[in-house]
Amino acid sequence: MLLLDERQAVAEYGKKLITSGLVKGTGGNISLANPEKTLLAITPSGVPYETLTPEDVVVVDLEGNRVDGQLKPSSEMAFHLALIKQRPDIKAVVHTHSEHATALACLRWELPAVHYLIGSAGSVVPLAPYATFGTQALADNICRVIGSGNAVLMANHGLVTVGANLRKAFNTAELVEYVAKVYVITKSVGTPVQLSEAEIQEVIDRSVGYGDQPGKKN
Ligand code: 13P
Ligand code: ZN
Repeated sequence: MLLLDERQAVAEYGKKLITSGLVKGTGGNISLANPEKTLLAITPSGVPYETLTPEDVVVVDLEGNRVDGQLKPSSEMAFHLALIKQRPDIKAVVHTHSEHATALACLRWELPAVHYLIGSAGSVVPLAPYATFGTQALADNICRVIGSGNAVLMANHGLVTVGANLRKAFNTAELVEYVAKVYVITKSVGTPVQLSEAEIQEVIDRSVGYGDQPGKKN
């Protein structure tokens, strides 16, 4: 089976999307490139994560042609491919509909630096303008706003995060949801104090290599 390790990881993290509460039903999607970044293992479209097997995960080339697997790839393949191609450091993409991040996206707000853990995503999580799910326009909007950050809110839709591996991209999705929840709570009772660019940069510098343990698999 082509890209066995990557397909196993995508199936495993797909299940974590459900157990972590970041998506409901068959919402969201995940992809992981091979080390050479010539192929992408991506979740199939509309298949429940609970039953997802490595065989179900679809392998596509960077033009989106299916090269292994029987199922249809995620309807959001366009933005997964666009992100993988846009930045050399991106190997994994996670898309969620997590509730607090999505609430901000429906307000068409970005997520400011109200908690240091936003550093996993950057100094802010920007908002991509609305476009219909599954379109190249949505992929273009995301790629236009992501810059060097690791997360983008998608207007009236959800969140997308990226990383050098799935552990990092998934962790950023969980942290952005956490910071979004804290932001919503603080906004409901007062005015949250935002960290400065310099304070967040210090967090980012201190976090380099965080969680990279010798001998531990990503
Ligand atoms: P897929 O099941 O096709 O990946 O779509 C889910 C989704 O979240 C669309 O934005
Ligand atoms: Zn979605």
